[in-house]
Amino acid sequence: MPPQFIGFSVFLFGLIVGSFLNVVIARVPNRESIVLPPSHCPSCLASIKPYDNVPILSYMILGGRCRSCRVHISFIYPAVEAMVGIVYLLLYLLDGLTLAFLGDVVFVSLILPLVFIDYRHKILPNVITYPGFIVLLALRVLAPLPVPLNATEHIASAMISSPIWTHRLLGALLGALAGGGSLWLVGWLYLVIRKVEGMGLGDAKMMAMVGAFLGWELTFLTIFVASLMGSIVGVLAMLVRGESLRMEIPFGVFLGPSAIIALLAGRELIGWYASLFN
Ligand SMILES: [Zn+2]
Repeated sequence: MPPQFIGFSVFLFGLIVGSFLNVVIARVPNRESIVLPPSHCPSCLASIKPYDNVPILSYMILGGRCRSCRVHISFIYPAVEAMVGIVYLLLYLLDGLTLAFLGDVVFVSLILPLVFIDYRHKILPNVITYPGFIVLLALRVLAPLPVPLNATEHIASAMISSPIWTHRLLGALLGALAGGGSLWLVGWLYLVIRKVEGMGLGDAKMMAMVGAFLGWELTFLTIFVASLMGSIVGVLAMLVRGESLRMEIPFGVFLGPSAIIALLAGRELIGWYASLFN
């Protein structure tokens, strides 16, 4: 099969998953079922016919409005679909059709809904982060990290003569500790020193999930890039609106895209950073 055809199929698959993730984003924060009832217009409650539920196309054909009541439908919906399609395609170009591709696809499909839910509701639901942690831990044990990033696994296998999966598990758990532990520590310090809740427990759980999959190197890169993004947005908000630096955007909104950047280009970024000192 020509790779262009597989790539296009992967992109279409991403659009369909994106359509499902829209349902997750809309319903999980309200503790609603993600299966039933079928999709309906949030305004007039008319159920959406399958032919009006085609990712991106339906939105364009209907001019971003509900067929029944003509209420305006958020641009976020087709944007999520397109985003998932594009990220899936990039992962296919990076991995090919491998076990690593499967793991990476699951990873971004867990991260993206968290970003949008955190933006809208300022929560990172446990129903996503807890199972997400277990699934990503298992996927990481099945499919190892790419070579320059598997330092923990490499050192463990040199020192402990146990099966290879135990070394991978150790690497994943160390990553989880790096991600979850460091954010928990920052939150705790904020609370003790400044008496404000600067970092929620949800962020720590999200980063434990991210760390289990990315390992400690890319996890620290994720936190670094997210802090940088947060600072830039904070300064821009100051300049544009002249308001205080008090951030209204929750940190998960920056952590999620940073984790996906680390997944896609982390090795290159770390290599480039290291080259600055050589
Ligand atoms: Zn409607």
